[in-house]
Amino acid sequence: MKRPFAAIGLLLLLWSAGDAGPAAGKASASGGFPHTVRVRLWYLHPPRELRVRADAGQAQLRKCATCKPAVLTTLALHAAGSSLQVEGDKSATAELRISGSYQMNAAGEPPLRADFPIEVRANDGHLLITALMPMEEYVAGVLAGETGNFKSDEALKAMAVAARTFAMHFGSRHALDGFEFCDTTHCQDLRIAGIDGHLRSIAQATAGEILWYDGEPAAAYYAANCGGTSEDGRFILGNDEARAPFLRQHSDQYCVRSGGTQWRSEVSKRELQRALAAEGIVVPGTLRSVSVLHRTPSGRVEFLRVTGSGTVTVPALTLRSAVGRNIGWDRLKSNWYEVSDEGNRLVFHGRGSGHGVGLCQIGAEVMGEEGHSYREILSFYYPGTKLGISAQGTPWQQLANEDVELLTTQPDRDKALLTVATRYMHESEESTGLVYRSAPRLKIYATVAAFRNSTGEPGWVAASTRGRTIQLQPSEVLREAGTLESTIRHELLHMLIESYARPGTPLWFREGLVLYLAGPKPQASPSNGLEDVAALEKALRAPATEEQLRAAYAEAQSRVAQLERQHGKQALLDWVQNGLPTEIASGTRAHDGR
Ligand SMILES: [Zn+2]
Ligand SMILES: [Zn+2]
Repeated sequence: MKRPFAAIGLLLLLWSAGDAGPAAGKASASGGFPHTVRVRLWYLHPPRELRVRADAGQAQLRKCATCKPAVLTTLALHAAGSSLQVEGDKSATAELRISGSYQMNAAGEPPLRADFPIEVRANDGHLLITALMPMEEYVAGVLAGETGNFKSDEALKAMAVAARTFAMHFGSRHALDGFEFCDTTHCQDLRIAGIDGHLRSIAQATAGEILWYDGEPAAAYYAANCGGTSEDGRFILGNDEARAPFLRQHSDQYCVRSGGTQWRSEVSKRELQRALAAEGIVVPGTLRSVSVLHRTPSGRVEFLRVTGSGTVTVPALTLRSAVGRNIGWDRLKSNWYEVSDEGNRLVFHGRGSGHGVGLCQIGAEVMGEEGHSYREILSFYYPGTKLGISAQGTPWQQLANEDVELLTTQPDRDKALLTVATRYMHESEESTGLVYRSAPRLKIYATVAAFRNSTGEPGWVAASTRGRTIQLQPSEVLREAGTLESTIRHELLHMLIESYARPGTPLWFREGLVLYLAGPKPQASPSNGLEDVAALEKALRAPATEEQLRAAYAEAQSRVAQLERQHGKQALLDWVQNGLPTEIASGTRAHDGR
């Protein structure tokens, strides 16, 4: 295993204000885990125009990957053939990259809030918009799209694992088009506008966890309602991935308990004949009858005989998609049905909804409501797979005392950290006079890949804190670098300071204050190009390299140490809560003789 951070001699941490998704925009990880996924938005109906409005000057615009970013406030653009035309800008451009925090409006669609980067290109008068989403934000968006009105958190967690695993398994479906996933049910239904704090917390509660089979992410198919018997993947999906032993037919006592698995619908013979013709299946003469030719062992229809003046054999999958696309997807909810003839109409009596392979969403919801955990739900629907953040299959274990919560995959190794964290919490409260408003939650990843995947941070970042959750690299890695305890101490102090910080307090001040409080005293910082406050703020927020981040930390710490010499420690703590004096917030660095 590569260990690019083994030489860390300093704390390397990033703090992101707010509880929005991780700062995205880094390229794909070089390891097996992507921490950012490329998703094509509005895949089926690409818009012609797009309006973007920044949140309080927090967005940037670039014309290419290496171009200089410009501040973005508002932007209106449309596709002109295969180039982009920005309103008020005479020259067309081939691509635009927007990052930061902003709202976008595609014509005719409700506005979408985003804090992930997008890349915009044009083709044939339409805009091709690709979002670079952190994996866990993508998972939350799929939960919004795919889980409807799930009430059980355990069922939602099971779906989060299934969605993440599905993504890991099928990551290359659109590789030739330059993205990984579309935002439709072809891949997974993504509904960004539906992401909320609850769905984010569900994604985070299972962050990085996937189902493994044979050392690979499993083909974690799922469907709305299996109707009482799940389907063997090989009959319905017809691809190699679906020939997995964990996708075998089995009975499901849970979804049947929910009731509502039966349905009835009608299709006129003329409609059906036209629908089949639209898909290239010609029934000779006038369609007179439809009968089942063959069923799979689960009872689902596999082939039908369609008769006019002659007879054609039609796969049930083809008939269902013909009806779905041309008449309506509500007509044939599944392929598990009886068909009867009523004059010029066909009547279908069926059960279940969807292909029935893998996790049954209704059944999972019933299991969750009956008190089963998401692990139990997953092992019921994907028997033989292993849940874990690595191929060894090691799920999160929770440890807690009255002050701290700790999530780890190796409780024996990490349980001593509860005491360490408690000690530093008390120390932080004493040195600041502030009190923790909520119990910190330490989450220690099993592998660097899992940490990167979940946080969106590069491997040289030791920890990342959002809200009350402190996410840490594997503890043995930090211990070997000699930074385990100092990292925990730093992040705990950060969490405390952040929970009191007045909105808008510059990052350099918060970061510098934490470094100053944690000591040791700063070394004289050499000239590092960060004398300008804006440059320092930017280097802390989005460091280009490990060296730049180290320099920014040193600069922030040294600035705050200088302020402490001039104004005293209590003044600094008051500024956190009441705001920084303007001349300090905006000022360049004064020299104090060092
Ligand atoms: Zn797709
Ligand atoms: Zn079921």
